[in-house]
Amino acid sequence: MEKRKFIYEGKAKRLYETDDQDILIQEFKDDATAFDATKRGTIGNKGIVNNKLSEKIFTLLEKKGIPTHFIKRLNDRDMLVKRVKIVPIEVTMRNIVAGGMAKLLALDEGIILKKPVLEWHYKEDKLHDPLINDDHVMALGIATPKELEIIKKYSYKVNEALKKFFDSKNLILVDFKLEFGRYKGKTMILADEISPDTCRLWDKTTKEKLDKDRFRRDLGNVEEAYQEVLRRVMA
Ligand code: UDP
Repeated sequence: MEKRKFIYEGKAKRLYETDDQDILIQEFKDDATAFDATKRGTIGNKGIVNNKLSEKIFTLLEKKGIPTHFIKRLNDRDMLVKRVKIVPIEVTMRNIVAGGMAKLLALDEGIILKKPVLEWHYKEDKLHDPLINDDHVMALGIATPKELEIIKKYSYKVNEALKKFFDSKNLILVDFKLEFGRYKGKTMILADEISPDTCRLWDKTTKEKLDKDRFRRDLGNVEEAYQEVLRRVMA
């Protein structure tokens, strides 16, 4: 399938229509942003790494019974995906305190949570993706109670599958962000990407950060960290 009309450019990806109205091509860029896109840069070959990692992870999740938008990887930077209408919430799952949770509650990074913490953040950079609860989601008509139940069920399943998977690659899954969408106006499926842009991954032995925090916090060796995650995941 070939790229037809360009339809959307996000911070890290572009979307194109294909000859099938229900199928899009998702192209991964090297552009990186942080802090609600106030910090911008590029990470060499990030698009290639994130495309390959997303392929691997979506394939694994499909095998575990979680429906995703992934159809097939086409080349280094492009994958075929089902066209969805994205639900405007960022679904965050946390196993260990870091980032936004450390800041919100003045906690030290690295505290192991007694249970995974699921959060909804309303997707709006201008408002800094504010934390909202189930009632906000339902009261504002962002998702129905049934849809919210499905998103919760899938999110906990994704966490269990990915914790185990990354552990086998000597990586700790600290937290991650998911996005869901409605396919053909109804079926809720997992969309977007799963990569070091959207997951915090720490080396199990050294606790070294191997994710976008290297870019956010100017820690250096950003490209190398993404390559290292790809190397381990493909091993
Ligand atoms: N995250 C993301 N996109 C965002 C915000 C967060 O992919 O716009 C990911 C982030 O990489 C981390 C998890 O979601 O793995 C939790 O992020 P957090 O809420 O701590 O926010 P941050 O520290 O990124 O501001």
